Amino acid sequence: MMFSPDEILVLDGATGTELDRLGVDVSMPLWSARAMDEAPDSLKQVHRSYLESGAGVIITNTFRTHQRSLAKAGLGAESTRLTQAAVSIAREAVDEFDSSALLLGSVAPLEDCYSPSLSPEPDVCHEEHARLIADLVDSGVDGVLLETMCTAHESLAAASAAKEHAPGRWGICFCLDGDREIGSLQDGTSISQLIPDLLEASFIGINCVSATSMKNQIHHLRSCLPDSMPIMAYGNVGHVDEHGGWISTDAIEPCIYADYAMSWIECGANIVGGCCGTTPATISAIRDELESQVSSVPRAWLQ
Ligand SMILES: [Zn+2]
Repeated sequence: MMFSPDEILVLDGATGTELDRLGVDVSMPLWSARAMDEAPDSLKQVHRSYLESGAGVIITNTFRTHQRSLAKAGLGAESTRLTQAAVSIAREAVDEFDSSALLLGSVAPLEDCYSPSLSPEPDVCHEEHARLIADLVDSGVDGVLLETMCTAHESLAAASAAKEHAPGRWGICFCLDGDREIGSLQDGTSISQLIPDLLEASFIGINCVSATSMKNQIHHLRSCLPDSMPIMAYGNVGHVDEHGGWISTDAIEPCIYADYAMSWIECGANIVGGCCGTTPATISAIRDELESQVSSVPRAWLQ
C-alpha cells in the first residue's frame, strides 16, 4: 500500500494549465504532451513549483501520452519515448527538491473525459492502458494514478491492466457527473457498483469535478468504501460554458479552495490536491490550512 488511511497527504495541482501560464503551447490534439520535447525545463519548473508549495505527491505529465492520443498529431510511434521523458523530468524535479515525494504516473481515459460515448470497447481499453501503465512502471514511477475515469467499462479495463502491471501500487479517481444522482459516472453507472472490483487499489477518489461540488461526492464515496481505503480528492476551479468559455467559481481563490479541501478531509478524504485551473498558490494554501489546524490533526499529517 502506498498510503495510510491515518495520514493526510497533499497532492500537486494542475500541470496543463500551469504550462499554459508559462507560455508553453498546449493546443490540441497534443495538449500538454508537447512540453516534453519543446519545453522540458518549463515542465520541470511546474513540478518543482508544486514541490516548493508543499506537495508530497507529484503526478507525471502523461495524461495524453497514450499512443492513440499522440497518433492524432502523427506521433503515435513516440508514445513510449514521451512517457519515459515525462517520468524522467518529474523524477529529476523530485530528486532535486524532495526525494521523499511520491511520483505517480497519470493514466487518463483514451478519449475525451467528458464524452463517455467515445470510449472504445473494453478489450481495446485494456490493451492500450496496459501499454501505458507498463511504460510508466518501466520508467520508474512509484505508482500509477488512473484519473478522470468517466465510464464503467473503461475504469474496470484500466484497473485490470493496473492489477497486472502495477500490482499493489495503483489507485483510481473518477470524474463524476454532477447533473446526475450523487456518485454517478458520466455513463450513468453508480460508483458503488464498481467498488467490489477495485478493492485491490491503494486509493479510490474523485477528480476534476468542481471544487464546490466535491464535498457531497466525497461524503457519499466514504459511505461506499471500507474505512481502510484512502480517498483522494482534487477538484477544478471552474467549468466550460456552452460556448467553450471558462466560468470560474469562487474556488479560483487559493484560500477558498483550501477551505473546500478541508471540508473534503472532514468528510473522509486522505489525499487532497488540485485539478484543472489550480496553481502552486492553491497547494500552498492547502498546506498552510493543514498546518494551522495542527492541534486537531495527527502529527503524520505534517511530516
Ligand atoms: Zn481536471
